Amino acid sequence: MSRGRGGGGTAGRRDGDRARGAPRPEKICVACGRPFQWRRKWAACWGEVRYCSDRCRARGAGARAAGWGLH
Ligand SMILES: [Zn+2]
Repeated sequence: MSRGRGGGGTAGRRDGDRARGAPRPEKICVACGRPFQWRRKWAACWGEVRYCSDRCRARGAGARAAGWGLH
C-alpha cells in the first residue's frame, strides 16, 4: 500500500502546494506563452525545459517549425 493515488485529481492540490510557500523557479512556456512553475519531474532537466506540458512541447515545436517565422 505504498501508492495512495485514487485516479485523476490534479485540480484540488494547487492551494495546498502553494500554501507551503516554497520558492520555486518559474519559466515562460514558449508554446503558449504562460508562466509555469518548477516540477519535480523536471528536477533533472529544468535547465532544458521550455514547455509547460507535453502538449505544448509537441504543439510548440510543430507550430514553430510550421508557422512561426512566416508571419
Ligand atoms: Zn504551454
